[in-house]
Amino acid sequence: MTDEEKLRIQLMDCNDDWYLLTCLWEMDYKIKQLKEGYYQRYFPKNLKRNWGFNCCQCGERVQSDKDEFYYIVTIKWKDPHKPGKRFCSSQCADIFVSESEAWILRMKKVYQDARMNVRN
Ligand SMILES: [Zn+2]
Repeated sequence: MTDEEKLRIQLMDCNDDWYLLTCLWEMDYKIKQLKEGYYQRYFPKNLKRNWGFNCCQCGERVQSDKDEFYYIVTIKWKDPHKPGKRFCSSQCADIFVSESEAWILRMKKVYQDARMNVRN
């Protein structure tokens, strides 16, 4: 079952318009946070020990001794202490951001639909 379907079932008998409205605001806030958490980061110069990671999207190795910078996307609302996801390029980071945004928009639609069913 998709997250969307789960949420739809969860909200089936929801009659609390204020709650749904709050959730909608939260979704908008998440989109804002997603964009704020997206930035380019340079590797510090003269590292004593090189380090690297594999791109979260394409799996390519990024290394402090061969690359100058990388991209990072922090999903603040999930766990603010958890390091963000790292990517080799803006193209890879963009895919992640647009997929996350599409997920948020799908959730938003479920909340909007649930508000239509609230009985006054
Ligand atoms: Zn990549």
